[in-house]
Amino acid sequence: MGDNVSKRLKLISATEAEMEERSFPNQYPDWEQGVVASNAGADVEYNDPFDAEGKVNAAFQMRVQSKIKDLLEQMEEGLKTADPHDFSTYTGWTGIALLYLQLHRVSCEGSHLQRALDYVKRAMRILNGRRVTFLCGDAGPLAVGAVVHHKLNNSVESKDCVSRLLQLQRSVLSPDAEIPDELLYGRVGYLFALLYVNKEIGADTVDEGIITKVVTAIIGSGKNMSAEEKKTDRCPLLYEWHKKQYIGAAHGLAGIYYMLMQPGARVHPTMLAELVRPSIDYIRHKRFRSGNFPSSLSNESDRLVHWCHGAPGVIHMLIMAYKVFKEEKYLKEAADCAEVIWQRGLLRKGYGICHGTAGNGYAFLTLYKLTLEKKYLYRACKFAEWCLDYGTHGCRIPDRPYSLFEGMAGTIHYLSEMTNPEASSFPAFEL
Ligand SMILES: [Zn+2]
Repeated sequence: MGDNVSKRLKLISATEAEMEERSFPNQYPDWEQGVVASNAGADVEYNDPFDAEGKVNAAFQMRVQSKIKDLLEQMEEGLKTADPHDFSTYTGWTGIALLYLQLHRVSCEGSHLQRALDYVKRAMRILNGRRVTFLCGDAGPLAVGAVVHHKLNNSVESKDCVSRLLQLQRSVLSPDAEIPDELLYGRVGYLFALLYVNKEIGADTVDEGIITKVVTAIIGSGKNMSAEEKKTDRCPLLYEWHKKQYIGAAHGLAGIYYMLMQPGARVHPTMLAELVRPSIDYIRHKRFRSGNFPSSLSNESDRLVHWCHGAPGVIHMLIMAYKVFKEEKYLKEAADCAEVIWQRGLLRKGYGICHGTAGNGYAFLTLYKLTLEKKYLYRACKFAEWCLDYGTHGCRIPDRPYSLFEGMAGTIHYLSEMTNPEASSFPAFEL
């Protein structure tokens, strides 16, 4: 027995060491209402990012703007050697177009919109018909192309993009298509493209009937898997990717349920209550004591704190569940996710949004938008502050270092949210 205990202790310390390895200790003091004032003048380095009205102050905004300018130059230079054939939103040209669309949204500068057009045109020239999703397939460039052309009043081109986008539905709906359901490569990633176009161009750009067909296919697939696994009672909608039942936002259940709860998906309230809600509760029971979530249903190690795997992705599902079902427990667990992210979210993997510090910062922004609690805006600012020292912490360099989801473009996207945090939105995910 003594042997067992020491084995277990070894295991615990190994896990702790690994946690240390995955993230930097967060040295920033946490937000405590009132403490700022009492610390003023003391030698505690608090660095309050707010002005008297509680807005992100001008000095911090200026630091952020100057860093954005600097990183944009580095990114443009770096992109000269990027893979010319990668058109994707995740790591390719459409992601860069989406960044410029965001910069145009916050600054209203016409040159950004022009850049977005250049990049998305470049992407649309090299589509390959292999995948259907917004993040990794043809739907991303076509949806972003439709939006950029719409903003430039090129209505013929915009409509052409939408009709090409809709042609992809055949392979999404085909019953014998070997398409998964998750966000990166599956049906939900196509659903996002439709919802995105409707949000950006107008609610009836994509016909409700088409959205319903896609939603029905996703729900049907989840019911089948749940029946196969004999989990109809506990988890009526079950999905897998590469033979694993992932939980996170990118490949897993949280990303799928999150999209099904979007108002634009128009899933019937009965279905939400009878299918989506119990499935969400099933995932909730898998959470670790720390408040973090496993990467898959069969995984029991509390390691990853990324948007793609772990609390920073699941938090979005919980927040949406709170909005839809109006139950405090979802909000409470979202707040627990935020604690884990604050403790373990400054990642050694880098500053990106899929598995980096910027993506983790979005969790605070989303919780701030819901609660308007200053604590979350403060934490978002501190993660932005960390990103201001881009490249100085000794993080791993990602494979696509300038891309939207792995690299610098994602960090710039996050930093640009500091201008108007109330209107922030995780790219290719939040609507
Ligand atoms: Zn990732």
